[in-house]
Amino acid sequence: MNPQTTPYCATLGFDNTRIREVLSILGLNAEHVALAERMRTEVIAGKADELVDSCLTPLARSRGFTLIERNIGIESFKRAWIERLQYYGRNFDTAEYFRDRLASAAAYARAKIPLGIFQVQHCLIQQVLIDSLSVKFADVASTARPLVDCVLKLSSLDLYLTAEGYHLPEVAELQKALDNLRKETYRLHQEASIDQLTGLMNYAGLMESLEHQVNAAHANLHKSQRGFPGNMCLIMIDLDLFKKINDTHGHVVGDFVLRHVASRIQAAVRDFDMVGRFGGEEFVIIMANTDLELATVVAERVRKGVMDTPLHLKELTIPVTISLGVAMLRPDERKESLLERADVAMYEAKSAGRNRVIIAKDADDIRTLPEL
Ligand code: GH3
Ligand code: MG
Ligand code: MG
Repeated sequence: MNPQTTPYCATLGFDNTRIREVLSILGLNAEHVALAERMRTEVIAGKADELVDSCLTPLARSRGFTLIERNIGIESFKRAWIERLQYYGRNFDTAEYFRDRLASAAAYARAKIPLGIFQVQHCLIQQVLIDSLSVKFADVASTARPLVDCVLKLSSLDLYLTAEGYHLPEVAELQKALDNLRKETYRLHQEASIDQLTGLMNYAGLMESLEHQVNAAHANLHKSQRGFPGNMCLIMIDLDLFKKINDTHGHVVGDFVLRHVASRIQAAVRDFDMVGRFGGEEFVIIMANTDLELATVVAERVRKGVMDTPLHLKELTIPVTISLGVAMLRPDERKESLLERADVAMYEAKSAGRNRVIIAKDADDIRTLPEL
């Protein structure tokens, strides 16, 4: 069965195994294929209209009949049942049969026809078929018996599929609600990972991405014998003498400076580098599949990009510089240690006079840090 062509079956989990299971529970087998054919040719042929008409009389007394009249129309209801009888039991053991039965039940459910009415119609059809059999084979009970058995079993199958199909609109609604919930959860998660001031990833987002990238780099490193690059680098950035900017121009201007620097950093990195705000005036760049040499080139480009683009704010021109520490992930190193080494390098850049890039030592001397 191709689930693409049978979405109703797929929605309700009717794969080939389940179809076989249903048929086997109801006792429907290859013999019934031939019996259904006999029903069509010997009992129903030429009489489908008449049989359906005889059902409509008792059905017309039910309350649901007016709903059928209003929401479907008696003529199309009749036509559908005549067609059902003309194809009575044909290919009942295929996914197509299951799909058609489920689809028409779903259509009735959507048309707000109570399930009970639809089920009563099945029972009435079953009765007129059995009545016809007892008239036609009044003297040959041995011929009638297997045909009656076939009618009862096919009715059970149709009643079962009708009940299942009636849930389809609910299932579709439920799936839609679930999809919306998933989207909303994703949106909230995204929102919770974004820094409101700069629009970059916030600390939580950075930590999540870093954890992910570190794990991926370690996994790649293990495959590196097969030619996969396993390197990743991290750059820690801190604004130089930012306190002075705040003290001179005020906190609001300080915030503009932070936003400006964030956009300069973002503009200088490659598309796949991940930039986030680590804390107050500290930023981090995560660089997957990047060796130390390349990371240093990017760090230098970021430093120059910030230095060469002072913030123009009304009549003010505010020059800004940053200090950067670059570290490359070591085999089996955790994210906490990588951050610590980049941070130490960044402080070395401060000590060395600021506005510069320092590469972290491949430090064995970094103390073991607890996991964040
Ligand atoms: P250094 O070059 O050594 O890093 O000097 P600095 O002045 O940048 O360092 P310090 O850590 O002393 O100052 C950081 C300042 O950043 C202090 C704090 O008021 C400011 N800051 C932190 N978060 C924000 C923020 O969200 N907005 C503004 N305007 N200032 C912030
Ligand atoms: Mg700082
Ligand atoms: Mg600073």
